[in-house]
Amino acid sequence: MIESGYSYWEKELYDITYDLIVVGGGLTGQSTAYFFKKNNPKAKVLVVDRGFFPIGASTRNAGFACIGTIGEHIADLEIDSESRLRARIKNRYQGLQLLRGTLGDDAINYEHTGGWEIFTEEAEFTKARDQIGKFNAWMKELIGIESFYKAASYQGKPAISIPSEGMLHPGKMIGKLYELNRSVGVEFRWNTPVLSIDPDQATLQCENDVQLKAYQLVIATNAFTRRLLPDKVIKPGRGFVFVTKPMDEIKWKGTFHFNKGYVYFRNLGEDRILLGGGRNVDQQTEETDQFGINPYIKEYLVNFGNEVMELPQGWEIEQEWSGIMGFTESKTPTLEKAGKNTLVVAGLSGMGVALGMQLGKTAAESVS
Ligand SMILES: Cc1cc2nc3c(=O)[nH]c(=O)nc-3n(C[C@H](O)[C@H](O)[C@H](O)COP(=O)(O)OP(=O)(O)OC[C@H]3O[C@@H](n4cnc5c(N)ncnc54)[C@H](O)[C@@H]3O)c2cc1C
Repeated sequence: MIESGYSYWEKELYDITYDLIVVGGGLTGQSTAYFFKKNNPKAKVLVVDRGFFPIGASTRNAGFACIGTIGEHIADLEIDSESRLRARIKNRYQGLQLLRGTLGDDAINYEHTGGWEIFTEEAEFTKARDQIGKFNAWMKELIGIESFYKAASYQGKPAISIPSEGMLHPGKMIGKLYELNRSVGVEFRWNTPVLSIDPDQATLQCENDVQLKAYQLVIATNAFTRRLLPDKVIKPGRGFVFVTKPMDEIKWKGTFHFNKGYVYFRNLGEDRILLGGGRNVDQQTEETDQFGINPYIKEYLVNFGNEVMELPQGWEIEQEWSGIMGFTESKTPTLEKAGKNTLVVAGLSGMGVALGMQLGKTAAESVS
């Protein structure tokens, strides 16, 4: 019901049971809605998001189209099994192919730049370099690409080059997906925070006593999932990013990773740098789902820009922001039933540009 009660006309128009309601209009939620509607053209599909636009991670990320560095793989093997990590790598690769194929490279400003994992300590580099053979064999087997990683150097730093990496424009990615969703007839309700759900009845409680009903619900709220489903263990992790003002010359062109992926940077066009991450230097504070900028992390990244990247004297930040990621214990996303008629798909663990669309497609197939 709504506070004022329905008029005769409103009841017919709004008091309906949707075939599918997706909570969360980020990459995962919008992909779920899109593939469900494509498979079921007559279905009534609604996406509900609390924001004026999606406000989580999908339009606040760094736009790396990547599937993992050797440093990250080594760290991941300390917390997860080899078979699950291999599955995740394959899913990331397939996810990126699906994303690019569905939205089109031009529409999302995809650039095949190549990427590098850089090192400041020789011992760390040696540890990663010694694993190149192993991970190249995995890549050949999992995704059919030879020599995925190569020992190299970049700007005088020991590095492992990753020629298959690229970058994209996350805003254009979500914009294009929204356009596709509208073209197939998916409905959207923005500015609609969901206050609670009944996962068995597939109903949502919103503000002003509005209740929405569906035959199936998909909860794609990533880092914010535990607010609706407190027993789902998705840990929030805040990420900080800034973009510099234009510089006369930039020496770093492509996507760059440092320290197991905790720090990342890329060129933005011809004259700017995007630099982000650093969550690990104040991990506990950053386990929050509140947006905000941690001055300690900002200082760490500014120093990184000066000391490791050796950005030109006088460089300045033009814009800075935060986004919230959702992590599972093992970093493998959750896709599971949360009640009779509800599926939860969350915990993309920091690499959702690669995983989000594929995961959304799988969620759509699971509720079809
Ligand atoms: C700073 C940063 C940098 C990143 N860089 C990269 C990168 O370079 N490459 C990469 O692959 N990945 C990157 N990621 C990760 C990637 O952006 C995410 O994994 C991905 O966007 C997650 O998508 P999602 O749709 O699952 O979640 P989100 O985009 O967070 O969407 C969740 C949506 O749910 C909505 N919502 C939440 N609660 C409610 C509620 N109660 N009612 C209604 N709506 C609600 C939110 O408003 C939000 O729109 C980065 C993330 C961050 C934060």
